[in-house]
Amino acid sequence: MLLADRSAYAPGTLDICGDPSLRRYWLDLFRRHIASAAALVAREHAREPELVARMERARAAFTAHVDALAADGAAGPFDTLTLCAERERALRAAGVDDPFRRVKERENVAALALLPAVLAEIDALAEPQRLEALVRGIFAGNVFDLGSHATAALYEDGGADFSAVRTRLAPRPWLVDDLDSLRERFESPVGCVLLFVDNAGSDVVLGMLPFARECLRRGARVVLAANRTPALNDVTHDELLALVAQAAPLDEALRAAVSSGQLALVTSGNGLPLIDLRALGPELRAEIERHPPDLVVLEGMGRAVESNWNARLRVDTLKIAMLKDVSVAQHLGGALYDLVLRFEPAG
Ligand code: MG
Repeated sequence: MLLADRSAYAPGTLDICGDPSLRRYWLDLFRRHIASAAALVAREHAREPELVARMERARAAFTAHVDALAADGAAGPFDTLTLCAERERALRAAGVDDPFRRVKERENVAALALLPAVLAEIDALAEPQRLEALVRGIFAGNVFDLGSHATAALYEDGGADFSAVRTRLAPRPWLVDDLDSLRERFESPVGCVLLFVDNAGSDVVLGMLPFARECLRRGARVVLAANRTPALNDVTHDELLALVAQAAPLDEALRAAVSSGQLALVTSGNGLPLIDLRALGPELRAEIERHPPDLVVLEGMGRAVESNWNARLRVDTLKIAMLKDVSVAQHLGGALYDLVLRFEPAG
């Protein structure tokens, strides 16, 4: 219902199945990623040997699936979205609900503690600095990503600190830089903004919540759409409900918007780090029918780039992400950690 042309839509940007070197690269990446997720569960849940054993079964099953695709050059079709879905299936089949739950909880607590200071910093700014600071906050928060090898390693080394990352971000112009078009768009009223959020912790708390608050301040109804079920360190709808309930008392604007209903939380129905916009859940479809958005924001590399870079929507669309994978970055003509902010008027 958001798509300009549903029949022309495909939620995949890279052809990782048809290109032999991309095929090798991505299958190897998925194989290494499930191994590092299993190692994380073993560390985090050392006192729950039953869970560690279930995670090991999930790792073995998913690795066998990847190995079979790697062994048969003609096997397919597959893409990053179907591989992510297969990984979640292997986890659930082995009885593993959410390997990243503890990490997300820790990062949520840490991010909430920083929220008042981040909001105060933004409030001290006037345009044109203000919108740029909000966008840079989204980029910096988005570094908390345990699905990418580069940022997972950064996180483990303690290098994913929000403020430090923010100061190290690439300067403008970014690889794709439509900030001026976005600023122009915000000069006319925006009735309703639908934000597809990505990760827990600094990403949603210090990046997307301040941006949502800015949209509220400009009079918009704001809907935060998070996954129904866990995928990597993406925030889930239930987690986001709890987070917003904790954030609201810290800020009068958020508190007022929650209590008036100007800020609403609706599950996207999704359970992957990427998103197929044809497969939104019934709650979000009903919400879109009741309150058609004027602006849709797809945040994070999975949703904005890997699955929807070429998607044209019927409404103004903002695609915003840090490129945390070298092959995705190269596909867009950039390098690791390049930043993209693409604003597309309604198609
Ligand atoms: Mg994510």
